[in-house]
Amino acid sequence: MSYDKVEVPEEGQKITVADEETGELDVPENPIIPIIHGDGIGTDVGPAAQKVLDAAAEATGRSISWMRVYAGESAREKYDENLPDDTVDAIKEFNIAIKGPLTTPVGSGFRSLNVALRKKLDLYANVRPTYHLDGVPSPVKHPEKMDMVTFRENTEDVYAGIEWEAGTDEVEKVKAFVEDEMGYDSTIHDGPVGIGIKPITEFGSKRLVREAIDYAIENDRPSVTLVHKGNIMKFTEAAFRDWGYEVAEEEYDQTITEDELWEEYDGERPEDKIVVKDRIADNMLQQLLTRTDQYDVIATMNLNGDYMSDAAGAQIGGLGIAPGANFGTARCLAEPVHGSAPKYAGQDKVNPTAMILSGRLMLEYMGWADAGQLVRDAVEETISSGDVTYDLHRQIEGGNKLATSEFADAIVENIEKLS
Ligand code: NAD
Repeated sequence: MSYDKVEVPEEGQKITVADEETGELDVPENPIIPIIHGDGIGTDVGPAAQKVLDAAAEATGRSISWMRVYAGESAREKYDENLPDDTVDAIKEFNIAIKGPLTTPVGSGFRSLNVALRKKLDLYANVRPTYHLDGVPSPVKHPEKMDMVTFRENTEDVYAGIEWEAGTDEVEKVKAFVEDEMGYDSTIHDGPVGIGIKPITEFGSKRLVREAIDYAIENDRPSVTLVHKGNIMKFTEAAFRDWGYEVAEEEYDQTITEDELWEEYDGERPEDKIVVKDRIADNMLQQLLTRTDQYDVIATMNLNGDYMSDAAGAQIGGLGIAPGANFGTARCLAEPVHGSAPKYAGQDKVNPTAMILSGRLMLEYMGWADAGQLVRDAVEETISSGDVTYDLHRQIEGGNKLATSEFADAIVENIEKLS
């Protein structure tokens, strides 16, 4: 494919799909990887992550050829558009990419570019691991009890973008349809109304839950929890739960329900079984705090997943730490959980750990587990030695307050020491 708005590096090779059905990738030792630095603090954390990932690749005998692609402000500056087709096409062609945060205006203005990217690339699972790194200050007494991976459905729910603004002809049409044809007369208050639709499909739910169970099996995790608000939203969130249990029962011999755990195994989980359970979302948010170590892999819908992973992220040290990645079939777009924090943009101040650890997820997906582990170990070594950025520095005694770029350099030094 040829591009006008993307420069393909001369060095490096393409990551290709070895098996379309299983999504297995063929990853060369010198892959070309597209990167979007992103808006706001993306200009600080993007280059910092690149530096660290380069060092981890080099330390394990490989190299990465980065290909800058553009979205958000950088794309507006260069090409006068928010999300050039070339950016989407390049990520499709090269299969694995990493991005920093992109700003979304609230209310008016363009729709979320993050959501657009996830939809256009059919990245249906947003995966957010939350685990505690030694030395990271936390607001809870036992942050080490948190070791959870959230699988958040990425393409449906109220995030699908099917909504109509108050005062438009469209919203009045939808209101009339709901009231007159569907029988919800007088259910919606009179006066201006905004309406959004919440689609939850069997297809979308099942493929997400499948990813979560597969992950639990591959990583020896004891349970998968389906999180929903099905007591209230019976045909969407309860349906997600039911489809989730259906996948577990029909497609996996290894899974048992909580009832089966007690009835057949007296509460003692056999090592080769994964317990599939469900929790109501509001209860789940308190259980995260009170029974943290009872949760391993979470499968949930788009909105619940967004709230939950930010809350869980706070328990292990905040948004500067929390990594994420979006997965589709044979495709990965890694990105931190945090946003573009415009107040701190360009100050070489914020914490690049979330972006760096998102890169670690990308390396693992590429099959470079050794490089990924090196990244994690070096980040942990750096933070526990007291070398931290301002956000962690203000929460610990002593320590060395470093700029974003200095912190990345310290991690690189530790990669060199540890390898
Ligand atoms: P935010 O995550 O950008 O910032 C909230 C606060 O968290 C910041 O003020 C800062 O105190 C802290 N923080 C965030 N990242 C940090 C880091 N790396 N190091 C240290 N502290 C950090 O959330 P927001 O202010 O709600 O959103 C700002 C913009 O980002 C919005 O336009 C929003 O839509 C967008 N956003 C984008 C993504 C994404 O690209 N995936 C995700 C969330 C928000």
